[in-house]
Amino acid sequence: MARARNLPALVVHGGAGNAGPGAERPERRRGMMAAIRLGAGILRAKGTALEAVVATVVALEDHPLFNAGYGSLLNSEGNVEMDASVMFAEPVFSASKRSGKRSDRTHSHDADYSVSAGAVAVVSRVRNPIMLARAVMEHSPHILMAGHGAENFARKVGIRLVRPEEMITERARERWRVRKEQTGMLEAEAAARAAMGHGTVGAAAVDVHGAIAAATSTGGVPGKLFGRVGDSALIGAGTFAHALGAASATGQGEAIILTALCREAVLALADSTPKVVAREAIAEMIDATGAEAGIILVDGRGRIGYAHNAASMQVARYDPAGGIQHLWLDPIATARRP
Ligand code: ASP
Repeated sequence: MARARNLPALVVHGGAGNAGPGAERPERRRGMMAAIRLGAGILRAKGTALEAVVATVVALEDHPLFNAGYGSLLNSEGNVEMDASVMFAEPVFSASKRSGKRSDRTHSHDADYSVSAGAVAVVSRVRNPIMLARAVMEHSPHILMAGHGAENFARKVGIRLVRPEEMITERARERWRVRKEQTGMLEAEAAARAAMGHGTVGAAAVDVHGAIAAATSTGGVPGKLFGRVGDSALIGAGTFAHALGAASATGQGEAIILTALCREAVLALADSTPKVVAREAIAEMIDATGAEAGIILVDGRGRIGYAHNAASMQVARYDPAGGIQHLWLDPIATARRP
């Protein structure tokens, strides 16, 4: 007998890391609620999971209190360098009905689903890196494009380029100044490890057609070296979608890459619920790296899970049973297993 579905469903994160100034919380909550309402509205109107996760992430990229798009943290040189990625798993029958074709690099990952993905790394001149990641997925033969080449591609597909300074908020500049004073910026790497930021954004959704998507966007970790690429640009690490479900990660990118966090978690949905998988994925990440990270997950039945081991993580969720909810999520126990 087919098990009950609770579709559509959407889960969104606003980053795991330090708690951030309390005074900013109401506005971060408001920004997150506006973003999830947008995504949930698309899903309720029978839009696709891809449209929902991209629209949700765009809204958060445009909000200056999130570390993605406008408002991104600055790298060791004081510049914005952003990463983003998106992945879409679509039932094959609806893929062929809607577009009549499948792209060359769309691989059949599962008997009934086709998957596609797009990503960008170290971009400084686009307002919404997630839209460029989607364009790479839909209009190029590639999956990951970086730096000037990615920006050149943006121009070709009609995405407006901005001056890099236009992406820098006064708040981000001030935080960079403070950090520079504290560390002397002599050891940017150590600084990046010592203090996590927060505010990376991501979303995972399943729509009424059964299609599944995830998207992630970030300005990276504080104090990161010029040219550093994090997990948010890497399919399988910071973002993954599959017939089984979808995931987006946040936290110390190097640990997320080492553990292929999102792909491992989504594949584990074959045997467990998103709630259990999220906790286990973070516990395994702690065992392997001792780092701080968070994950959100949705499965093909619309069940949602999330977990993290940082000081704080902002999450919002939507499904027909529970409606829209916002949470400041407590960390799971961080003791490393013997
Ligand atoms: N995972 C992001 C990165 O390493 C940062 C974050 O999620 O806060 O670039």
